[in-house]
Amino acid sequence: MAIRNDTPIQFLKGVGPRLGNILHKRGVGTVGELLHWYPRSYEDRRAARSISSLVCNEIVSVKATVVNVRSYNLGKSRRKVYDVAVRDESGTIHCKFFRVPYRGYFERFTPGQVVRVIGKVTDYRGSKEFHHPELRDVVEGEEEIDALVPLYTETNGLSPSKIRKLIASAIHELIDAPQAPRKDYARKENGEVPLEEVTPIERLPSWILEKYDLLPLDQALKGIHQPPAEANREFIDMRSSFHRRVIFEEFFWLELFLATRKSGWQREKGVAIQSQGEFVGKARESLPFALTKAQERSLQEIFGDLSRSQPMHRMLQGDVGSGKTLVALLAALEVIEAGYQAAIMVPTEILAEQHNRNAVKVLGELGLRVALLTGQMKSKERQELLSALASGEIHLLVGTHALIQDDVEFKNLALVVIDEQHRFGVHQRSRLKEKGFFPHFLVMTATPIPRTLAMTVYGDLDVSMIDEMPAGRQVIASRVTYESKRRQVMNFMREQIAKGRQAYIVYPLVEESEKIDLKDALSGYQQLCQAMPDIRFALLHGKMKPNEKEEVMRAFRDHQYDVLVSTTVIEVGVDVPNANFMLIEHTERFGLSQLHQLRGRVGRGEHKSFCIFMLGHAVSDESRERARIMEKTTDGFKIAEADLEIRGPGEFLGARQAGLPGFRLANLVRDMDLLQKARQAAFEILEKDPDLRKTENYHLREELLRKHGPSALASVG
Ligand code: ADP
Ligand code: MG
Repeated sequence: MAIRNDTPIQFLKGVGPRLGNILHKRGVGTVGELLHWYPRSYEDRRAARSISSLVCNEIVSVKATVVNVRSYNLGKSRRKVYDVAVRDESGTIHCKFFRVPYRGYFERFTPGQVVRVIGKVTDYRGSKEFHHPELRDVVEGEEEIDALVPLYTETNGLSPSKIRKLIASAIHELIDAPQAPRKDYARKENGEVPLEEVTPIERLPSWILEKYDLLPLDQALKGIHQPPAEANREFIDMRSSFHRRVIFEEFFWLELFLATRKSGWQREKGVAIQSQGEFVGKARESLPFALTKAQERSLQEIFGDLSRSQPMHRMLQGDVGSGKTLVALLAALEVIEAGYQAAIMVPTEILAEQHNRNAVKVLGELGLRVALLTGQMKSKERQELLSALASGEIHLLVGTHALIQDDVEFKNLALVVIDEQHRFGVHQRSRLKEKGFFPHFLVMTATPIPRTLAMTVYGDLDVSMIDEMPAGRQVIASRVTYESKRRQVMNFMREQIAKGRQAYIVYPLVEESEKIDLKDALSGYQQLCQAMPDIRFALLHGKMKPNEKEEVMRAFRDHQYDVLVSTTVIEVGVDVPNANFMLIEHTERFGLSQLHQLRGRVGRGEHKSFCIFMLGHAVSDESRERARIMEKTTDGFKIAEADLEIRGPGEFLGARQAGLPGFRLANLVRDMDLLQKARQAAFEILEKDPDLRKTENYHLREELLRKHGPSALASVG
C-alpha cells in the first residue's frame, strides 16, 4: 500500500496498535502529522562539555554518571524537590525538578548509570545547577554519533530513539521515495482540474514560496528532523531556513483564517449610525472630568466605524481603570440617539450589576432606560423586561450570557459591547448573528498586548488602545518580599483593617487540575482564620459553583468580610473601592500580566493602596528579577511587553482560550518578521481570490476547511 500524507499512522512500518494509540493521544493520527512532531530542541554532540567548564545560561549537553537520586521538602512547604546528582571526571552538578515529569520518571535512575543531561545551566544562589533538564539514558550504539541530534518531548512508552526511527520512516515514505502519485487533482463540478505538480505534502501555492523565499515543505521538514552536517548556531536556535519555512506556515494558517473571517465580516450589512452627537455632548458636559487624549482618539475611531454600514469589529484595549467603559457608554449613546438599542455583555452577574450602575449614572440623566438581565430573575419580571426590550422602551441592556438566550429579542439592536475578550468566544458573537442581525461589535479587554502583536494575532479585529491613565490616579505602592517578612506584612494588613479597609490575599491556581494549589489556598485560609480570629476571612476558589462565587464576592463588596482569600478567580474586574491592600503568594508562579491584572483590583478608591508580592522558597534569581518589574512600573503595556519576552506568547495570550491555534515551532516574539510576512501573504491571496475558488488555491481551501470546519469559509461563500 502506498503511504500518503493522510494515511492513518497505524499503517506506517513499525507502528502497531499500541504505538498507534500512544501517537493518537499525542495528536498524531496520520503519517503526515508525524512529520509535524517537531524536535523540542537539538543536542549538539559535536560540542559535548565537561561539568567544570559550564557557564550559566548556556544550553548544553553533558555526559555524566548518576551519583545520587533523592527528594526532599522545600522549606516548610509540602512541595517536593527531586534532585539527581551527576558527575564526570571534572566535577559534580545537581539536576533539580520541582515537579515530576511523569509517574515513574525518577525511578529510572540509579547510581552508576550513565546519562546525558541536556538543559540550561542555572545560577542558584551562586552555584550552578540544572532545573528541569532533560535526562536521558545513554544508549549503547547511539553513543558514537557525533552530530546534531534532534530531541523530541519524551512520552511514556515511546523512547526518543523510537520516535527518531518512526520519523525517519515517514520521511522515507513521503519525501525520499514517495509512492503516491505526484499529481493532485481538484475535483470540481465541471470535471477534474489537474493542479500544478506538487509533492504530496505541499500546501502553499508556488508563487508564495517564490515571493517569500521559502523552501518547499518536504525539504524543510526533512532538514528539521535530520539536521544537515553543517548545521550551525542559527539552526540550533530554530532560525534556519528549514525552520523558518515551517514557522511561516504555522502563522500563515492562522492569518488566512483571520483574513477569511475579516473578509466575511466586510461583506455583512449592518446599520450606519447617523446622529447629531447630542446625547454624547450632553453626557460629556455632565462629566466632572475631561476625557484623556487616548479616550478621545478611541472614541473617534469607534464613531468612524459606527457611521459605516459595514459592522464594526473593534477591540478596545486598556488597563483596568483607563476609562474603557465610559468610552463604550458614549458609543452606546451615539447609537441610541439614532434610534437603536445597545447591549453590554459581561462574564459574571456581579460585573453586570456593576456595569448597570455605571450605565444608569451616565444614561439616566438623559432620561434613557437601562435594564439589567440576570439569570435569576423571576419569570414575571423577566417577561416584563423582555417585552419592554422587544418594543424598544429599553435603550441599553446589560447582562451575562443570558443576553443571547433564544427568547431575548431586541427591537433593533445595533451595538454589542463585550467586556473581557477572553471569556467570550467567537461562538457567542456568532450566536447574535444567528438572531438575524449584524450589530456593531466592540470588544473590551484589560489585558493589554503590544500593538504589533494585537494587530497580527487579533488580525480580524481593528484595535483601539487607551494607553494613558486619567490624571491624578494614585500609584499603588508595590513591594517584592520574602517569607522572613511575613510577620511585618501581616501586621501591616491588620493596621489597614483596623482603619476600616479591606484586603485580598491571592494564591496561584496555574491549572485547575493542580490540586496542590487549591490546598495552598485552603490551608492558608484555615491558618489565617486561626491566627486572627477577630478578622473576618472569606474564601473564594475556582472549584466553587458560579453562584457560590458570586455570593462571596457580593458579601465581600458589601463589607461583610475584611479579607478575601482566593485563587486567581478574582482577576476579572469586580470593583471594591474600600479594598486597598493585596498580598500575592508565590509571585514567581504568575505571569507578569496576570500580576498586573490582580494588582488592578486595589487602588480603586480614595485610599492609598498597597500590593505585596511574596516570593516562595528557593526561587531563582531570574524569578526575583522578573518580580521586580512589578515594583518598577504600573504601565500595563510595558509589563505586557516584558511578559511576552519572558514567557513567550503561547501562555501570554492564552491562545487556546481565545480559540486560536497553538504554535508548535513559531515564537511570536522571535519570529515577528515572519508573522508579518505570513499575514501579508494571507491577505494578498484573499484579495486576489476572495472565495478561494482558484485551482492554485485548492489546497488552501481544503486545509482551511479541515482545520476550522465549514464555518471557516461560510462567510466567504
Ligand atoms: P475601565 O472600564 O477601563 O476599567 P472605567 O471606564 O470603568 O475604566 O473607568 C474607571 C473610573 O475612572 C470610573 O470611575 C470613571 O468614571 C473614571 N474615569 C473614566 N475616564 C476618566 C477620565 N478621563 N478622567 C477621570 N476619570 C475618569
Ligand atoms: Mg472595567
